[in-house]
Parts: sequence; C-alpha cells; structure tokens
Amino acid sequence: MLFSRVLKASVRSGIRLQSSSTAAASAASHSSQSPSFGYSFELTEQQKEFQQLARKFSREEIVPAAPAFDKSGEYPLPIIKKAWELGLMNSHIPQDYGGMGLTIFDNCLITEELAYGCTGVQTAIEANSLGQMPVILAGSDEQKRKYLGRMTEEPLMCAYCVTEPGAGSDVAGIKTRAVKMGDEYVVNGQKMWITNGGKANWYFLLARTNPDPKCPAGKAFTGFIVDADTPGVQPGRKELNMGQRCSDTRGITFEDVRIPKENVLIAEGAGFKIAMGAFDNTRPPVAAGATGLAQRALDEATNYALERKTFGKVIAEHQAIAFLLAEMTMKVELARMAYQRSAWEVDQGRRNTFYASIAKAFAGDIANQVASDAVQVFGGNGFNSDYPVEKLMRDAKIYQIYEGTAQIQRLIIAREHLQRFKK
Ligand SMILES: Cc1cc2nc3c(=O)[nH]c(=O)nc-3n(C[C@H](O)[C@H](O)[C@H](O)COP(=O)(O)OP(=O)(O)OC[C@H]3O[C@@H](n4cnc5c(N)ncnc54)[C@H](O)[C@@H]3O)c2cc1C
Repeated sequence: MLFSRVLKASVRSGIRLQSSSTAAASAASHSSQSPSFGYSFELTEQQKEFQQLARKFSREEIVPAAPAFDKSGEYPLPIIKKAWELGLMNSHIPQDYGGMGLTIFDNCLITEELAYGCTGVQTAIEANSLGQMPVILAGSDEQKRKYLGRMTEEPLMCAYCVTEPGAGSDVAGIKTRAVKMGDEYVVNGQKMWITNGGKANWYFLLARTNPDPKCPAGKAFTGFIVDADTPGVQPGRKELNMGQRCSDTRGITFEDVRIPKENVLIAEGAGFKIAMGAFDNTRPPVAAGATGLAQRALDEATNYALERKTFGKVIAEHQAIAFLLAEMTMKVELARMAYQRSAWEVDQGRRNTFYASIAKAFAGDIANQVASDAVQVFGGNGFNSDYPVEKLMRDAKIYQIYEGTAQIQRLIIAREHLQRFKK
C-alpha cells in the first residue's frame, strides 16, 4: 500500500498525465517538466518514481513467484491484483474515465520492469492495453465510461480478438462475419491465439461486415466491443505454449452472438483502421517488454559469469565471455533507446509506425539473441529449469511472433523507408 500511495500522490501532483489519444497536449506539458524540450535522455522525477515502483514490485513480487507460475501454467491472478492495486496496469486509461492517463512512454517504463520479473505476467497485463487501445482511440464517451471505467473499479481483464486460425499476419483475410439485423449485429466465426481469451470481461472484436470480396479492407470490417458473458461466446481450452506459460491464450468461437449496435466503434466499416491503429500505441510497450526480458538475461548471465570459475578464474575474465557480455549489453541499450524513441514519437502526437516497427522488430530479435547467449554463459546449467535462463529463452520467442511477426515489421519498415525516398 505504500507503493500505491507513492504512485497516486505522484500522479495527483503530476502535470503530464494525458490520455494517449490526446498525446499532442502531452508535448506541451512535457516541456514544462522535462529538463529540456525535445528528445531527452533524462527521466523526469515522476517517471523515475514510476520506474522505481515497478522495479521494486517486479523484484519483490514477480521474480520469486515466476518459476512456479511457469511450471503450473496457472494464471497469475494474485500478482495481477496487486499490480492493479498499485496502479501498475491500465495506467494509460484517461483520467476522465478513472484512470491515470499516463503517456505511452511512461507505460513503457513500467512494462520493461514488469517484464524483467516475468514476461508471462507482463503479457497478461499488456493484453489489457491491447484490448483497451481501440476503445481509447475510437470509443465514444459512453463506451469509454462503460468499458474502461469498470476496469479502474476492479481488476478486470479484456482482450483483443482479431487473429483467426486461417489469418494472422494477413488481417484482411479474417472470416468472422457480423450481419446487421435490426438494432443488433449477429456474429459467427472463430478467433485464435487470443491472450486473456478465457479471463476477459470484454473483447475488442474485428469482424467482416461487407461480404463483397472486392470491398477494400479499410471499409469491409467493423470493430465491436463484446461482453464476454454474451450468449454464444465460447472460449476454448487454454493453449499449452512454449513460453510465457502463465499467460492465458485461447481460441474463441462466436456462434450467433448478438451485439447491440451501440457497441460498434465509430461506425460500420471503420474496424480495420482502428485495429491496425492500435499497434502504434501498443508496439512500443511490446518492445519494452522484450527489452526487460533481455535486461534480465544480461543480469543473470553477468552475475553467473562473475561467480563461475574455469581454468582458475571466473569466466567473466575469459575474453570470449566478456565480449559476449559486451555484445549483449550493446543490444539491450539499443533496444531500450528504440522503444523509448517510438513511445516518445507517439506521445508527441506524431505517426510513429516506422519507429514502432523498428523498436518491436529489434527488441524482439535481441531478446532472443540475448536470452540464447545467457544460456550459453550458463553452460550446462543454462539448459536446466533449476536456473532462470532457459525460461527466458522460451519466453523470448513470442516477441518475434505476436503483434506482427518479425517479417511483418520488416515489411512495414521497408514500406515506410521507401516511401520517404519516393516523395
Ligand atoms: C501466445 C500468442 C498470443 C497471441 N495473442 C494474440 C491476441 O491477443 N490477439 C490477437 O488477435 N492475436 C494474438 N496472437 C496472434 C499473433 O498475432 C499471430 O500469431 C501473428 O500475427 C502471426 O500470424 P499467424 O500465426 O497466422 O502466422 P502467419 O501469418 O501464417 O505467418 C506464418 C509465417 O509466415 C510469415 N509471413 C506471413 N506473411 C508474410 C509476408 N507477406 N512476407 C513475409 N513473411 C510472411 C510470418 O512472418 C510467419 O513467419 C497471439 C499469438 C500467440 C502465439
């Protein structure tokens, strides 16, 4: 509770608490608190407080509990509840709807620290941001009050329901159909790989409303908010994944699910842009999560290298290991700069698609490299589940897959890069 008081007091006295959707205003307030206007490497006092709070919580509550949650695959509800009490989740919900209205940058600082403790826990928490983001960006006042507001009143989860068994990267290929009937839409279809799928109180759902295959994606799909207890919503079994095993991933069947037209985001046909637009705000935190994992791997490897002796000296004194640690350090530092830049861009109210994809791709890749290198530093022990780094290696892989694969990020970066040359 001490934490909670610290964060809430800090937020009350803070001057840059903006909704991420009113990010332009944040630029002005940023200037009054940052050491200098523009890109600054110095965190504000308030940001340092967020970071310290999240770091302390992660080290004291998540790190010790993570191995057991990894083994059992149990959903980390006790940790999530504590994080909620401390204000370490849903932090970007605007103040008008009961949230703290933190910027994406501030949210990323918290996310990196949570991920250091366990990325299974962090993904469960971050999936709330992903589910909420379409509502934050495109919801009406009434929708925000109803669906975001309730998440500030109790520790509820939500989910982002887009991927299907037949379409992940190719979002325009999704088949779930929503048909208008009077004041309702009737939805039928199958979603797959939905984080928080079995734990969510409500879903953001993307469904096709225009059956014409020639209709462009920008007009063919609609975004809905769906209460999880609506008849016909059927979450499947919890998937047994390679890593982040305590995170809840499921398929969900929608069978004759009736959604009131009040739950349409913006209007029929606006869904694709809403679903894709959310990523500009959520990819920086995903990159921050990957960076947190990489930092943990580096720290574990460094501590081990300073203790383990071979040939009469600690292995950190063998140049091959010291250089490996140097490479790992370079990657972690650069991944952090990439996610911070991408978060800062969107907080300035600028389109950050280019930077968000760079951060997501780079941090996802280096999390995998650094975790694998950490296993190498541990030698045989690294391959064993009594030591922390094999979990990190398993957990890291998903950062190259979800929220747009490593290949899709490169497609986006190439497109954005080439467009600059064509102008
Ligand atoms: C644990 C987990 C949690 C997830 N959580 C969610 C969630 O909460 N909500 C949600 O909606 N989805 C979620 N997903 C889905 C995730 O976003 C997709 O798995 C991902 O986007 C890839 O889609 P896919 O699995 O269909 O692979 P595919 O799209 O079939 O891709 C297969 C391979 O082909 C490559 N590829 C595809 N197209 C191209 C191309 N044009 N050029 C080059 N390479 C290409 C891909 O990079 C990949 O390597 C989750 C997935 C997992 C595993």
